[in-house]
Amino acid sequence: MAARTLSVEEALALLLADANPLGTERVPITAAHGRVLAEPLAARLTQPPFDASAMDGYAVRAADVATIPARLKLIGESAAGHPFDGRVGAGEAVRIFTGAPVPQGSDGVVIQEDTARDGDHVVVQGYNVEFGHIRRRGGDFSEGMQLLDAGRRLGPRELSLAASMGHGEVAVWRRPTVAVLSTGDELVSPGETPGIGQIVASNHLGVGALARNAGAEVIQLGIARDTPESLMEHVARARAADVLVTIGGASVGDHDLVAPVLSQQGMELAFWKIAMRPGKPLMSGRLGPLRVVGLPGNPVSSLVCARVFVVPLIEYLAGARKASEATRTARATVDIDANGPRQHYMRATLAPGENGISLVTPVRSQDSSLLSPLAIADCLLVRPPKAPAVAAGDLVPVLPLDM
Ligand code: AMP
Ligand code: MG
Repeated sequence: MAARTLSVEEALALLLADANPLGTERVPITAAHGRVLAEPLAARLTQPPFDASAMDGYAVRAADVATIPARLKLIGESAAGHPFDGRVGAGEAVRIFTGAPVPQGSDGVVIQEDTARDGDHVVVQGYNVEFGHIRRRGGDFSEGMQLLDAGRRLGPRELSLAASMGHGEVAVWRRPTVAVLSTGDELVSPGETPGIGQIVASNHLGVGALARNAGAEVIQLGIARDTPESLMEHVARARAADVLVTIGGASVGDHDLVAPVLSQQGMELAFWKIAMRPGKPLMSGRLGPLRVVGLPGNPVSSLVCARVFVVPLIEYLAGARKASEATRTARATVDIDANGPRQHYMRATLAPGENGISLVTPVRSQDSSLLSPLAIADCLLVRPPKAPAVAAGDLVPVLPLDM
């Protein structure tokens, strides 16, 4: 077993060193939500495709409404999806609606509110709102423009844009499959009533949700008991996955079987001790093509370690831009003691501050077995090893918890 204790940076570097995207596939745009673009997307269309009216009103010629009131002859109608196919001549107007093509000959729209109808004529009475109201062809984008980069995750805005650019199908990175396994003789499934000495297994749900948010497809393997047989039986079901995340049993106690059993199965252990708080021990290895990450069992430790290590691993494998591993800067609202030798991830809350710099306040209890304070927190305040004391008002690094 690797004896040396690694820093968080060293461990992350080892974990991510060969974490390359897993391959691409083409999916319909209707199924692409949350997927990561494997290729840049260029517009296949020009948007708007024609000069379109931005208002309901009348398409006219500027020269005809230079002096008002102006009485113009109505020669037709242009509605969305139903263009007028004639031409607007001198003294003429076309009834027009929002989104409809502006007919030839017309160079502007007078809004309905500035007009009065007089049989087959319209009288332009004045301008409450100026003349114009044309959304120009190509005003949004033109064919060939590259508007979405590879590595961009397709959220609501990106999906709308990709669709309007004319893409019915997109090339995306394959989603990594992450199998999550809780381990422990004391654990019962959520919803069950724990017996004497038992507790509800909760970590796999939080860890699974983090993994899914980061772009993974998650397989829940359930709870393995603290026996080599049970562990191996459960791990066998992870063979088709890209990553196996185990929870608990990764320490050095008599019942901590994850590392010895998986090593017996052929796992190459990369590391298993990290100078961080909450969190050590944390194990990483490979079982053939399967990446294994062993998280500590403590609820807060497991979620913090998953946020710090599993999320970036999934993002790398998923081809995503590595945005969410990046720490941000916030201003501490209270004094914080000097830190010890381990990198400390303090659970903390963010609030809006001046000049766009958030204010960060550690939650009262930093006990790594307590979930309720973690649920209050929305970020981790990062205290590097041996960091000096912080005074209220100082800037500190924070890692957002919600992605
Ligand atoms: P371990 O790392 O297995 O020694 O577990 C450390 C602590 O975390 C123990 O109190 C376990 O009962 C608890 N624990 C382990 N796995 C889970 C889990 N999946 N959900 C909630 N608590 C857990
Ligand atoms: Mg255990």
